[in-house]
Amino acid sequence: MLIDTHAHLYYSDLKSQLDDVISRAGEAGVEQIICVGTDLDSSRESIAIAEKYLNVFATAGVHPHDAKDAPTHFAEELRKLAGHEKVVAIGEMGLDFFRNLSPPDVQSVVFRQQLELANELNLPAVIHNREADEALLTALREITPKRGVVHCFSSNVETAKAVLELGLKISFTGTVTFGKNHNESVLKAIDLGDFMLETDCPFLAPVPNRGKLNEPGNISHIAQRIAEIKGVLIKEVAEKTTRTAQQFFRLPA
Ligand SMILES: [Zn+2]
Ligand SMILES: [Zn+2]
Repeated sequence: MLIDTHAHLYYSDLKSQLDDVISRAGEAGVEQIICVGTDLDSSRESIAIAEKYLNVFATAGVHPHDAKDAPTHFAEELRKLAGHEKVVAIGEMGLDFFRNLSPPDVQSVVFRQQLELANELNLPAVIHNREADEALLTALREITPKRGVVHCFSSNVETAKAVLELGLKISFTGTVTFGKNHNESVLKAIDLGDFMLETDCPFLAPVPNRGKLNEPGNISHIAQRIAEIKGVLIKEVAEKTTRTAQQFFRLPA
């Protein structure tokens, strides 16, 4: 059994064929999926999808790209959404200094408010980080999540260790299949119990489906590549990452 801990199922290419996407995931052994919101609207959409499918769960959050458009009362809205029984985390939240679609100071304020909200609600924080390692670690040291995951991990070994030392997890996407320079040194430096798997679909489809529409069923390709890098059986990668994800998000066994 595998879990896709980070999917954006509300994008129209996936949403238009969601019954098939979910059943293909099941055929590929992906039995639970977390649909991640990036603003208030997509958080509501994620919840609506989770209401429809027993094995889909939702998060509610504001992505750094969307931070500039967050209404002043956004944290109150997230708190309300988080009361839904299928909401298992706050996020995605974080810092993206690569695209800087929101001003960095606005990203920082919106990120910190969500870190505090996640801790107050005793929910995990799903964290996005792109080219913001230093500012991210500063924020995480100030407001350390009780449970937190730095998703689509793309930083170096040093940053991975710093994140793990704070008691957080990381998660890997299909980029692990893109070649030696993508995550291989990080994967070799950490334990199988330190991370989870995600597609981040519809983006970042792994090899052999690179460039195509990504979907949760592709988690098996990510697990396979990680098994090769770690020199273990795919079964072991599946068992350990699934156990981590179920404990982290408190999913039903
Ligand atoms: Zn992200
Ligand atoms: Zn995402």
